Amino acid sequence: MHKRLFTPGPTEVRADILKELSTPQIHHRSPEFGELYAGIQVKLKQLLFTENPVFLFTSSSTGAMEAAVTNLVGKRCLSLINGAFSKRWHEITQANAVPCDAFSIDWDKALKPEMVEEQLETGKYDAVTLVLNETSTGLMNPVADIAEVVARYPDVFLLVDAVSGMAGVKIDTDAWKLDFVLAGVQKAFALPAGLAVAAVSERALARSEHVPPRSYYFSLPNMYKSHKKNQTPSTPAIPHLFALDAQLTNMLAEGLEERFARHEKMAKVVQNWAKKYFDIYPEEGYWSKTLTCIKNTRGVSISELVDNLASNYNLRISNGYGPIKEKTFRIAHMGDTQIDEIEGLLKAIETVVDLQGRRGEWD
Ligand SMILES: *Cc1c(COP(=O)(O)O)cnc(C)c1O
Repeated sequence: MHKRLFTPGPTEVRADILKELSTPQIHHRSPEFGELYAGIQVKLKQLLFTENPVFLFTSSSTGAMEAAVTNLVGKRCLSLINGAFSKRWHEITQANAVPCDAFSIDWDKALKPEMVEEQLETGKYDAVTLVLNETSTGLMNPVADIAEVVARYPDVFLLVDAVSGMAGVKIDTDAWKLDFVLAGVQKAFALPAGLAVAAVSERALARSEHVPPRSYYFSLPNMYKSHKKNQTPSTPAIPHLFALDAQLTNMLAEGLEERFARHEKMAKVVQNWAKKYFDIYPEEGYWSKTLTCIKNTRGVSISELVDNLASNYNLRISNGYGPIKEKTFRIAHMGDTQIDEIEGLLKAIETVVDLQGRRGEWD
């Protein structure tokens, strides 16, 4: 029996979108492919509020994170860290021998513009990595405000991991002057895993021509060359591109503002519920609009809760991530999930933990 996913990636994929994956294959050097690619570009640019090309990576998000730091750091990268994924980006940067420094704060706190300013004043950096939505903690960093600070340093490029936010919240790529903004499609895009996208600014493409090449598969200059022909350098995940094309059409039909509003509404429902029965992990004011990381204030067994929901209700949520595994649990409210589905899930949790009734099973 299929377990309906309320996990912050992968997320539930609609049956009609799954069908798109079995579209008869076309050749990636054919005119039909060029049309598919060009059509996807038009829609991705709308979704990301950008004129920049949006590259398609046959990899999970990690590949696009690697592409950003290997192609766009000339001098030194500042890795802003307040969760597991921003920490991972720093590790990716180090693993590729790209010069970098970590700036770390507590996982339940948001990165603030002043903190970034203080680091950039040193003049050491020409790139900054920032995670929009920390999926490990359900925290949304104030990207627009941080972007404003970064823009005051003309040589510093802002590289943003928007993996669990893109297609769920507005990303104003050009207004915020994001040089590289990436996401994997298995989160708020509600597509199967295995494909990532990234919008890359013109000045970033220019710099990538001069940074010593550190990668072949993830070479931005090569990707750009192919992009101009509506192609990818190597054979792309063609089934995924059919699904992406169809899903972008669905998003635009829903309306982007409507889609973002639905995410905001779902977030409110889960946040209110979490405040009533538990608590919310990150500091107030920075709660994510695509997932909620709930503090286990009742001392319930998170692993039992997760298993019980899966075996008895065919619903799958996530436990906490890494060091906060048993201290928190996470509910994703992103992608194509609707408010009534979220309400159904919350009811099921109330029953499992017996929040309404007598003593809870684990009280
Ligand atoms: C899921 C996630 C990643 C890693 O994505 P993969 O697609 O598994 O490589 C990176 N950053 C964030 C914020 C994520 O949510």
